[in-house]
Amino acid sequence: VSDRSAERMAKVMQNVRTVLLDFDGPVCSIFAGLPAPSVATALAATAERAGHPVPPVYSGSRDPLDVLRYAGTVGPALTKTVEDELARAELAAAGSAAPTPGATEFLRACQATGRPVAVVSNNSAAAIRSYLARQDMTGLVAAIQGRNATDPRLMKPSPDVLQRGMRDLDVRPEQAAIVGDTVTDIAAGQAANVYTIGYANKPGKYADLQSAGADAVVTTMHELADLTRAIIA
Ligand SMILES: [Mg+2]
Repeated sequence: VSDRSAERMAKVMQNVRTVLLDFDGPVCSIFAGLPAPSVATALAATAERAGHPVPPVYSGSRDPLDVLRYAGTVGPALTKTVEDELARAELAAAGSAAPTPGATEFLRACQATGRPVAVVSNNSAAAIRSYLARQDMTGLVAAIQGRNATDPRLMKPSPDVLQRGMRDLDVRPEQAAIVGDTVTDIAAGQAANVYTIGYANKPGKYADLQSAGADAVVTTMHELADLTRAIIA
């Protein structure tokens, strides 16, 4: 992390009393053992069997959440079918997810400096709870908010899940930051009026997160843990 961005990060963390933490990316790679493209392919097959072939604009990324987004444009019945199958796949995936290096360290730094953390995710809350319990991390998280199971339009970049997390922690937007690895997280953070911290875990993401307008960007969760510990709570 450069001196300039360390400085920016210090300014952000001075104001931040609570952290809204994205799950897939900053905490773990949920689909490490059950690859996302194969889940997306299975969901797309389900949608097609239901009479709704997924258009390339939704299936091209091979992201299961995009298939759910498509189902949301079709209606409640397909949404429920895809949501149920995806939630089952996520719960299975949580059992073989790969922990993100530095994630526990960051959560401990938040705890040590008096900053409660709410996990705010487009994944299902059940999968998040299962993963955190398996990793003995439940005590490091004050709240868990997953996606709305009936309306995929409320997934990030909508600010909805961030707002639910802030309600749980009883915190105002100007005291909160979202930490996330996609431009979707940054957009949701901007819509919720919170600080935005990008976690660039892949080459190319740094520039993407920066041009999305993230207040600060880090490349490892260790960096974020160090910067968090360095600021007096
Ligand atoms: Mg993510």
